[in-house]
Amino acid sequence: MPRDNYDAVVVGGSWAGLSAAMQLARARRRVLVVDAGRPRNRFAHASHGFLGQDGRTPAAILDTARAQVLAYPTAELRNDEATRAEPCDGGFRLALASGGAVDARRLVLATGVVDELPDIPGLRERWGVSVLHCPYCHGYEVAGGRLGVLAVGERSLHHALLLPDWSSDVTLLTNGTFEPSADQRDALAARGVRIESRLVAAVAGEAPALTGARLDDGDVVALDAIFTAPRTHMASPLAQHLGCEFDEGPFGPMIRTDERKASTVPGVYAAGDAARAAHNATWASADGVMAGISAHQSLALA
Ligand SMILES: Cc1cc2nc3c(=O)[nH]c(=O)nc-3n(C[C@H](O)[C@H](O)[C@H](O)COP(=O)(O)OP(=O)(O)OC[C@H]3O[C@@H](n4cnc5c(N)ncnc54)[C@H](O)[C@@H]3O)c2cc1C
Repeated sequence: MPRDNYDAVVVGGSWAGLSAAMQLARARRRVLVVDAGRPRNRFAHASHGFLGQDGRTPAAILDTARAQVLAYPTAELRNDEATRAEPCDGGFRLALASGGAVDARRLVLATGVVDELPDIPGLRERWGVSVLHCPYCHGYEVAGGRLGVLAVGERSLHHALLLPDWSSDVTLLTNGTFEPSADQRDALAARGVRIESRLVAAVAGEAPALTGARLDDGDVVALDAIFTAPRTHMASPLAQHLGCEFDEGPFGPMIRTDERKASTVPGVYAAGDAARAAHNATWASADGVMAGISAHQSLALA
């Protein structure tokens, strides 16, 4: 049976992937988006800070974006998962979970990352609603409330020192992950941040809201929202399959790319959270634009 052959396949059909596909489709190239439908911010009720779309649900924004990309006659989408990628005939072959395979001359990996929340009961069911990671995405909505920072190590100091711009009631829950130095204590005090060093046993309240953090001695620190900075891992092993090199980012591994979003494997581009240190929808989308244009130019000028 003849295999479908595309100029480019974009794996991941969210902020980064659809942005890449848009550029390729507008360059009249045959582009397929393969998307498993699990964008990282699907847990949040609203997406903030994406210009022109502020406050809409992530699903509604992506629905609009998908429809706009698919309006171009050379763009296609499959709701599927790419399970394996390998070089083939000067391009690449992708195996799909539904069976079969597709071939492409260029690949764009826009597969995102997965958050590894601290192992504390109650965090998972509140993620994206009252347990948050990014004050720029969700700080405004909880401003003035009682805010906690659940530390994951010394890097949580940054979180704790920032948050007083959103509320004067901020508690750093160190949870045994680090012990602030005298200088760090002074810096926290100067910003009005309290330090709680007892261990956190669970999150209290009716999910997805919360009323506080229950400590291991039974006391409760009353809170309206908790910020934490999870480690992340790749949502897909495709970059590893292809032999792409990685760098260690502040939250976890990221696919190494140059300024044009080319990975270390010729013909493979990477965009979005999987290939950058700082994460938000706008940056992911901008990366996707760059990856899509780079992939197109490598086809046109080959
Ligand atoms: C709770 C939460 C709330 C957030 N809120 C905001 C906000 O308000 N504003 C903001 O700017 N940013 C926000 N972010 C950050 C934002 O979600 C990410 O920066 C953004 O989703 C990254 O886009 P991406 O396209 O790189 O990856 P993703 O959006 O994660 O999309 C990756 C896509 O690839 C698919 N995929 C993965 N592997 C495969 C495969 N093998 N085959 C097929 N498909 C695959 C996935 O299913 C998914 O659809 C939030 C993050 C979280 C965790």
